[in-house]
Formats: sequence, structure tokens, C-alpha cells
Amino acid sequence: THLSSITCRKLIDEVIELFESICENQKIKVHWKRCESASIYGDYNRLKQVLINVFKNAIEAIEYEGVVEIDLTIQDNDVLLHIANDGPSIPEETLSELGSPFFTTKETGTGLGLMISKTIMKEHEGHFSIDNRLDQGVVVTLTLPKHNGER
Ligand code: ADP
Ligand code: MG
Repeated sequence: THLSSITCRKLIDEVIELFESICENQKIKVHWKRCESASIYGDYNRLKQVLINVFKNAIEAIEYEGVVEIDLTIQDNDVLLHIANDGPSIPEETLSELGSPFFTTKETGTGLGLMISKTIMKEHEGHFSIDNRLDQGVVVTLTLPKHNGER
């Protein structure tokens, strides 16, 4: 593995760019509040994979016309990344199943995205959670230790 200091903004910009044309085609707006400058430490490609999985799920949930909201905040020694999408909420009985290997509600889903994401977050001493938003839609929260300077 290749561990390095990672600028969150750069990582997020890169993932948004990957989905740019899909979002355009499906009329999905990405609201990215580039509020804080924060760094984390870890395996760039593995963390990018987490964001890709989450972003892909958000787009699949919206299907057509909607907003993906990304925001980054710092809370004590952690970086918190929220990726929220509008679209349907997750039924209670489904919520408890999420993250079990191969659990999917999609016809052609693999049910691996969340499991892999949770594993990668744990490897980075971070945390993955997914929940319904109060009004509508879903929010994923990624928590990772903040990284200052070189290690
Ligand atoms: P897959 O996308 O192949 O189904 P995942 O592990 O990525 O596998 O997701 C598992 C399940 O979690 C999905 O099938 C879906 O039911 C639910 N899910 C994940 N993200 C969202 C989301 N943003 N909105 C609604 N449901 C979601
Ligand atoms: Mg998925």
C-alpha cells in the first residue's frame, strides 16, 4: 500500500469529475461546499474507491433529476465528510441489512459497495455510516482522523 497525506478537496474534485457526464445526462447537480481545507492520511486509491462507491449509490438512488450534496467539516480531531442525495428514503427493514455482504435492492447490484467501503474506512481508523435524512433522501457520513503535516 501507498500511504500519504491526502488533500480532501483534491480527492473529492477528482471523484466529482469522474461522474461529470453521468450527472449531466441524468440532470443531477452536485453541490460541493468547498468550505474547509483538510488533510487525511492513508491509501489514496482505496479512499477514492470509497467515494466512488458512495457517489455511485447516490446517483443510482436519484436516477433522474436531483442533487448530491457534499460537505466537509472538521470536528475536533476528525474530518467529517457528508455525501447526501435526494431521492427515496431507505425503509427501516432495509437499513439494518445494509453492509451485509451481497445485500442489494438493485436488480443488477452486487451488494459489495458498502461492505468494501466500511472495510476501507476501518483500515483508516475511520468510520462509515449511512442514514435517512430527516426530510427526504439519504446521507452517508465518512469520518477520518485529521492529518497535520508530515508523518
Ligand atoms: P449495490 O449498489 O450493488 O446494490 P451497495 O453495497 O453499494 O451495493 O449498496 C447496497 C444497498 O444499499 C443498495 O442496493 C441500496 O438498497 C442501499 N443504498 C446504498 N446507498 C443508498 C442511497 N444513497 N440511497 C438509497 N439506498 C442506498
Ligand atoms: Mg453500490
